[in-house]
Amino acid sequence: MVERIPQCDPGAGYREQQAAIDAALRRVLDSGCYILGPEVSGFEAEFAAYCGVAHAVGVSSGTDALTLALEAMGLRPGDIVATVSHTAVATVAAIEMMGAIPALLDVDDAYGMDPEGLEALLMDAMLGPRVRAVVPVHLYGQPADMDALRALAERSGVAVLEDASQAHGARWHGRRAGSLGNAAAFSCYPTKNLGALGDAGILTTDDKALADRARARRQYGWRTRHVSDEPGRNLRLDALQAAVLRVKLTALDDTNQRRAAIAGRYDAGLADASLARPVRRTGSSHVFHQYVVESDHRDAIRNALTSAGIGCAVHYPQPIHRQPAYAGRIVAGPRGLGNTDRMASRILSLPMFPQMTDAQVERIVGVVRAVPS
Ligand SMILES: *Cc1c(COP(=O)(O)O)cnc(C)c1O
Repeated sequence: MVERIPQCDPGAGYREQQAAIDAALRRVLDSGCYILGPEVSGFEAEFAAYCGVAHAVGVSSGTDALTLALEAMGLRPGDIVATVSHTAVATVAAIEMMGAIPALLDVDDAYGMDPEGLEALLMDAMLGPRVRAVVPVHLYGQPADMDALRALAERSGVAVLEDASQAHGARWHGRRAGSLGNAAAFSCYPTKNLGALGDAGILTTDDKALADRARARRQYGWRTRHVSDEPGRNLRLDALQAAVLRVKLTALDDTNQRRAAIAGRYDAGLADASLARPVRRTGSSHVFHQYVVESDHRDAIRNALTSAGIGCAVHYPQPIHRQPAYAGRIVAGPRGLGNTDRMASRILSLPMFPQMTDAQVERIVGVVRAVPS
């Protein structure tokens, strides 16, 4: 019987810190306080300090963190928000949820928003003046080219919201994801680098007024209980999830380091294989939410891994502009989506989670290398 290797394994992350997580859950159960409260404010303070920002606002999911951040930035229905097509559908869904119109841009070879694509959109006579925010995604764990993107946004007076859902702990020229724009949104979905035991998300910012608006809008627009200063919704974070995330945060640097070590082993093992390994962007650290290779023989590699009992995945098989819900009506930037379309048939995410053993990595490398090219 061959040992099965999953593509990711959130249960292994729980078991690694089981005693501390169980104690934290017990503490919340005994406290009688299950929504917001001291666990959530504790997590917010610890995560803000970790990211090097002044404020963090815990919310119910990464999607909600994105929507809430756009609202708190003052965006209005009908405003255009620039983002990428090669991303989780949540990025684009969140923009539409608050009534804004997504404009989708291409990515560079490190899967970040292409600055030339953003520049062309901002210069476009029709679309440019309506763009009010730009949402770069730090896809697979590596920050986008934030110097170039921020310079373009600043020149046009456009706000920058990082979608840092795959990049907890990653750095850009020494500064953490979450501190690289006007605000950032993180998902803490169980498989993310900082993952809860259910849905959770968090918004970070240095802008006090933005944080204050987000905090009010997360709970019915309340600044004082039962007084709605502005329209709001229910986007609150549970105390149980916050307590889990506080424990997980203490291990994040170690688990990210282990992910990077696994990536290094993949790099070495696949150095002479006929596939493209992840491109490292100068100036950024990579926290390897995913280790993604590209190959013309992607489906053959996928079949070989599956036959060997090894999990793998395609993130994402269809770019947003090809999804049934968006095709035909989505706005694309003037430079088109050529890289995005080419990548969709070539990308493959190999197993990646901190509890993988070196022996498992070697076995995966062996199966990939044996696929004829
Ligand atoms: C996971 C993810 C989200 C959405 O997060 P949820 O917590 O599932 O709402 C948004 N953007 C990216 C890039 C993600 O990976």
